[in-house]
Amino acid sequence: MQTKYIVVMGSLLSGLGKGIITASLAKLLSMHGIKAMPLKFDGYLNYDCGTMNPFRHGEVFVLDDKSEVDMDFGNYERFLNTDLNGEFSLTGGKIFSAIIEKERKGDFLGNDVQFVPHVADYITGYVTGVAKRNKLDVMLIEVGGTVGDIENGYFIEAMRELASEEKVVFVNLTYIPELGAVGEQKTKPTQIALRNMMQLGIRPGFIICRSEKALGEAAKKKVALFANVDEGAVIDDRDSDNIYRTPLHLLDQGLDRMMIKALGLKPKSGDKLFRKSVASWRSLCDAIDKNGSRVNIGIVGKYTQLHDAYASVKEAITHAAGRNGVGVEVRWIDSESLEGSRDNAEKMLEGIDGIVVPGGFGKRGVEGMITAIQYARTNGVPYLGLCLGMQLMAVEYARNVCMLKGANSTEFDPKAAYKIVDMLPGQEAAAKGGTMRLGLWTADIMKGTEAHRAYGSERISERHRHRYEINNHYRKRLAEAGLVVSAINRDRDLVEILEWKGSFGIGTQAHPELESRLERPHPLFISLIKAAKARAGA
Ligand code: GLN
Repeated sequence: MQTKYIVVMGSLLSGLGKGIITASLAKLLSMHGIKAMPLKFDGYLNYDCGTMNPFRHGEVFVLDDKSEVDMDFGNYERFLNTDLNGEFSLTGGKIFSAIIEKERKGDFLGNDVQFVPHVADYITGYVTGVAKRNKLDVMLIEVGGTVGDIENGYFIEAMRELASEEKVVFVNLTYIPELGAVGEQKTKPTQIALRNMMQLGIRPGFIICRSEKALGEAAKKKVALFANVDEGAVIDDRDSDNIYRTPLHLLDQGLDRMMIKALGLKPKSGDKLFRKSVASWRSLCDAIDKNGSRVNIGIVGKYTQLHDAYASVKEAITHAAGRNGVGVEVRWIDSESLEGSRDNAEKMLEGIDGIVVPGGFGKRGVEGMITAIQYARTNGVPYLGLCLGMQLMAVEYARNVCMLKGANSTEFDPKAAYKIVDMLPGQEAAAKGGTMRLGLWTADIMKGTEAHRAYGSERISERHRHRYEINNHYRKRLAEAGLVVSAINRDRDLVEILEWKGSFGIGTQAHPELESRLERPHPLFISLIKAAKARAGA
């Protein structure tokens, strides 16, 4: 079996949703029984995303195998309901460190090492190697950035070369702006982008057009003309409130069958099976579009202006609301804004049916998060703490129930009177990249706890990404005061889940949001929304 390739490239501007398009195409092919997986290329020179600021780059996504990857992996996994691993992420940093290592070993002896052929060959070899090892029918390659960026030029050249050896279909995601009061759709920027792409030796087989409103016939005709494709290959991708509908929207335009044909493949699952998977996906989309009763969930963090920093949290809430049959309104609450007066904080949190404090690093906004947690605990508002949100749940309890004044995490106060959260011996890392507690870790859950009820299992494994731990020295004291330790990692004797007794409040050291899928909402989020729904009487 020879793997076929789909290369998705963006033009004009970033943020058009190449990840969603790539995930949607992979989903449609999978529904047809074709084994299709996405690989993402990012041109920056970081080795991985682990050292990037979420405020600039969006959330850092973590895979089972400890890889810290681009947030698009969240879309891939959420759409495909599959676990990917780090080899599906290729960065400029990885490519150049491999090339330089080879050069130092003498693998290129006598030659000057060049972008063409050496870097391009390395890339095509890498991509075809991953495709082969995973026995893929189709590999989708999403090229980060936009065509014309210095960062991805060598990668685009490699894709051009790949196309001379393998079956490759190029997809261009572009933007069609609307001008003036009449909203005329303008194709000139796309025409220029297509010309630039063709100069690089890339001829897209399909052009997907992002636009505010439906793509008009005139615009479609023009794009088709300039791209030398049939009008059917120019696809509408208008704005939508529900990203999970994108595969269905592409399907309605026949892109799945056109693509399969262009790749020289045939659908593998019968029509009946295909229709069944489409129907079940559609009903999940309908469930999250629910417009009836709603719950209000507050996400309290320091990056709330950039929703991408908490993309997986927002999606996990959406999936769980769909499962619970309620609509959901996410309120983004900047934790720093809760740090002023108590009255003001209470006003801001009023009317909220559930609070989530997500993961985070650094001191800024932490006191506001603690205020939100205290508010949740004392007002019986359902609470879910994710990683930092769990560590702060312990700090809040130590301060306000155990009355340990000055309790804190040593991440924020290295000289804290009570070091409730601390770095364990052996966890101090000289280098920052790839040295946190990462990837899948198991936990044993105590029976009779809320966590046990949620998971319905005594042993779980979840993805992690953090450096600090609940200090075991205070475990007994917290427990005696009523904070339940409901799960631990036995190998290292680490606290994994904490919970309150009186009302719904769970904190987990893991990042369950990374494992929630439309087809498999995460149990902790399902329980949070269920509790929020009960509170709201929704
Ligand atoms: N900053 C905390 C730690 O390093 C929490 C990390 C997180 O929330 N991902 O342990």
